[in-house]
Amino acid sequence: MTSAAGPNATILEGVGQTVLVLSGKGGVGKSTVTVQLASALRAAGHSVGVLDIDLCGPSIPRMLGLEGRDVLTTPQGKWVPVYVDEDQRFSVISLAFFLDSKSDAVIWRGPKKNAMIKQLLTSIMWNVDYLIIDTPPGTSDEHISVMENLRSAAVLGAVLVTTPQMMAVGDVARELTFCRRTGINILGVLENMAGFVCPNCSECSNILATGGGEQLAVKAGVPFLGRVPIDPMLALCSEKGENYLVKCSSSPAAATFKALVTTL
Ligand code: ADP
Repeated sequence: MTSAAGPNATILEGVGQTVLVLSGKGGVGKSTVTVQLASALRAAGHSVGVLDIDLCGPSIPRMLGLEGRDVLTTPQGKWVPVYVDEDQRFSVISLAFFLDSKSDAVIWRGPKKNAMIKQLLTSIMWNVDYLIIDTPPGTSDEHISVMENLRSAAVLGAVLVTTPQMMAVGDVARELTFCRRTGINILGVLENMAGFVCPNCSECSNILATGGGEQLAVKAGVPFLGRVPIDPMLALCSEKGENYLVKCSSSPAAATFKALVTTL
């Protein structure tokens, strides 16, 4: 099995462990999982950073209520991440911070994207136990660029996010192959939008197909990391930049995110 790490690959300075969050397609909840995993790590007492390199739709700042914030630069030319909390133990860098307006699109050709990814991986002043990287959907040039710029030894592993339907599951199977070819450890598959939690009675019903992510994990011989149901409060909190794990601490989704921390 070959690793994509290039000869000049880096181990991220100031970072304990790095976790990649991957999905086969957009809209399955990859950024949501990134934010909730980071929040759960923080709630468990760890310092945590989020690096949003989803160049097509960087949505992390909105989900954390950080829209419009500026990134400061140190005299040595390093970027200082934007802090979510006052004690500066939850920090974020997103491409969105560098765009002029939130409706700006990143329309860059490969070399410019690769240069930006390299800069994002080497020029940030992190000081965190865990760094969670939100990657673009699919297995694009950006993923290869991330792996070329990171030593695979520095990456704890990848969380693969899918919805339960077979179409999304098929896409995540390609992610599994990508991880294996590039030498990324697979932490497991997380099934998002699995069932619906009624806001009135809190009962969970399976309105869509269920179990596809678990079947895939079993077939591929990788851990199944659990199910996150569709929870309207999760969508609302993400929209408003509110802390879901605090607001809905006893929800089934919160339980899965908290349990995810123990698998790292
Ligand atoms: P991706 O990063 O894969 O494109 P997002 O995390 O941006 O997906 O999620 C897409 C939309 O679905 C967002 O509006 C988000 O709030 C919503 N969403 C994601 N997961 C859930 C869930 N389990 N319950 C309710 N809404 C969700």
